[in-house]
Amino acid sequence: MSTAPKPAKSAKRAGTSGAAKATLADKLDRMGLRRPIDFALHLPLRYEDETRLTPIGALAPGDHAQVEGRVIAVEVQFRPRRQLMVRLADDEGELVLRFLNFYGSQTAIFQRAERDALPVRVRGEVRMSFGRAQTAHVFEMIHPKFRLIEGEVPLPTVLTPVYPASEGVSQLVLRKRIEAALEHVRLDEVLPQALLQSQHLMPLAQAVRVLHHPPRGEELSLLDQTHPAWTRIKFEELLTQQLSLRRARERRLARRAPVLAPGTLVQRLRAALPFALTGAQERVAAEIAADLQRGHPMTRLLQGDVGAGKTIVAALAAAQAIDAGYQAALMAPTEILAEQHFRKITQLLAPLLDGGEARIAWLTGSLKGSAKRAALAAIADGSAQLAVGTHALIQEGAAFARLGLAIVDEQHRFGVGQRLALRVKAGADGEEPHQLMMSATPIPRTLAMTYLADLDVSVIDELPPGRTPVLTKLVEDRRREEIIERVRHAVAGGRQAYWVCPLIEEGESGDAALELKTAVEMHAQLSQAFAGMQVGLIHGRLPVADKRAVMDAFVRGELQVLVATTVIEVGVDVPNASLMVIDHAERFGLAQLHQLRGRVGRGSAESVCVLMYATPLSQTAKERLRVMHATTDGFEIARKDLELRGPGEFLGARQSGDQLLRFADLQEDGGLLDRARDLAPALLERHPQAATARAE
Ligand code: ADP
Ligand code: MG
Repeated sequence: MSTAPKPAKSAKRAGTSGAAKATLADKLDRMGLRRPIDFALHLPLRYEDETRLTPIGALAPGDHAQVEGRVIAVEVQFRPRRQLMVRLADDEGELVLRFLNFYGSQTAIFQRAERDALPVRVRGEVRMSFGRAQTAHVFEMIHPKFRLIEGEVPLPTVLTPVYPASEGVSQLVLRKRIEAALEHVRLDEVLPQALLQSQHLMPLAQAVRVLHHPPRGEELSLLDQTHPAWTRIKFEELLTQQLSLRRARERRLARRAPVLAPGTLVQRLRAALPFALTGAQERVAAEIAADLQRGHPMTRLLQGDVGAGKTIVAALAAAQAIDAGYQAALMAPTEILAEQHFRKITQLLAPLLDGGEARIAWLTGSLKGSAKRAALAAIADGSAQLAVGTHALIQEGAAFARLGLAIVDEQHRFGVGQRLALRVKAGADGEEPHQLMMSATPIPRTLAMTYLADLDVSVIDELPPGRTPVLTKLVEDRRREEIIERVRHAVAGGRQAYWVCPLIEEGESGDAALELKTAVEMHAQLSQAFAGMQVGLIHGRLPVADKRAVMDAFVRGELQVLVATTVIEVGVDVPNASLMVIDHAERFGLAQLHQLRGRVGRGSAESVCVLMYATPLSQTAKERLRVMHATTDGFEIARKDLELRGPGEFLGARQSGDQLLRFADLQEDGGLLDRARDLAPALLERHPQAATARAE
């Protein structure tokens, strides 16, 4: 807990400087820096090499260098904008320092250096100067770090640690506080001695000291993070994570959930299916069926590429809950998707339920008045055995009589908070519902292991038979006319096509409005080009009833072409649609492209996905398109996606604010992760205290 004085008090006592101090404490507090141990474990993110000076003559653009020289001119310029320009010279050449934001005090330092002939030491990135013609060949540094040299200021002999900082908390402050903390903090070793030896791990206290005080001669391994001190810290981080995930699992296993035994509804549903389940579907269905009978809440992620057939597996699980006398809920991130689930599940289950369709409730945010009241009542009194809908299902108002199983489709689309809310909706007798999450975004193994240790994962790794793989074509958008012809041809042959409009990147003027405008214009252009054919338009701003009407018309084949924004991304199932054009494909992420492409190739016809792109392409965009062209394997695509985006963004943790790994890197430290995961159970069992200290 913080021992910092209350801001108000200290401000009163010490005047303005006290107020400033309180603000610093607040800022440190916000960074999680309170106790000495917090400071001691605030480890450098990287190091800077300030041990050397580079002669100006030896600089090259792109270098991060440290230079020392005399100030030969200080000038505040007003064109093209107000800026401070300082010319620095050593025996070999001249360097321009440029400050676009600066204080008078900074100008004064350079003026003093010039007047008193004091050297200035600067550090920064070297660039070509694009200033006035006569200085065209001079290098410059923008906003370099600088320091006036008065008297003897020897160069440091060791690397300078760079700490994670934040606005208003400087490196200097952090360094001082960390030094002070290191003086008297105790860094207890939690790992048993024998383990340290067998795993060749540096003791924690030693590792921490080495990282704060980088020894000479070990610069390289410290800079590239291969030093044993780094290894120990990364291992510590991974182990801590594994331990807390295992704890979470243990806690879950201590909670209770209804025992749901399968009965006749499951049998009748299986018998009524128009197809045989694939081997993979049978396997995951068995895993889920077993979980539901264990008496503690299942948290299982069902992964399967788009079109793998997750819905029927979910329906079987729901049937099992109903068999046991409980309710099931199926939740989807969008109304369209929820609607499609509702239609499919009703088709499958209603004929088998006593009371038919009336036993399936439909609940979304847009449902109003008596329809909504009726749905809520049916959910509350238990007459609805299954409820299908959007997140309206977990918002207050919907109180289930006996919820036994909650199924969440495309779970990554829901926020963490919403997932938790679902858990809190515990049923009677302190029993929690089971949770089945479904996702078409395959999570690579290393990532699943790290972040989802408390999730069991079932994978449908096989597509139903009779699918023809989608052919992917990359086409530059100056061949737009050709593509329009291709769409006409497909439609003339009795097929249907999607035309997905460009994603408008955030920050571009208008964004959502612009996206809509693009879709509307594209719709007009295609309607004109395809006289005699029916072209539909669907986008997020359309009222739900209209969306539904458009989707229905497309499903029934009354519309041959569907112009869409990304609202069709998830789950839409129209087997006769065999051509998809993605306009400005370079703007979409890999996962999104994969999802979109999954909308075609659902029937037996040969399907084509055209990724139309505009040049010039960024390096990542090029790579994404290359991957899409090379493979249709969702796992391969997810692996590349992870590589291109990094785990935080991949898992959507940025928005949920989850603390991700700071030091370990899942790509590079896979071996360490394996070791941490292997070690965690034994550590919990044999050294529960040490393990708890780490996990909490
Ligand atoms: P997703 O995993 O993307 O949610 P769906 O559950 O929507 O996939 O299934 C895609 C299509 O495959 C649906 O039309 C569904 O009826 C069909 N399907 C599912 N399982 C099988 C199977 N074993 N054999 C044949 N078709 C199947
Ligand atoms: Mg689906």
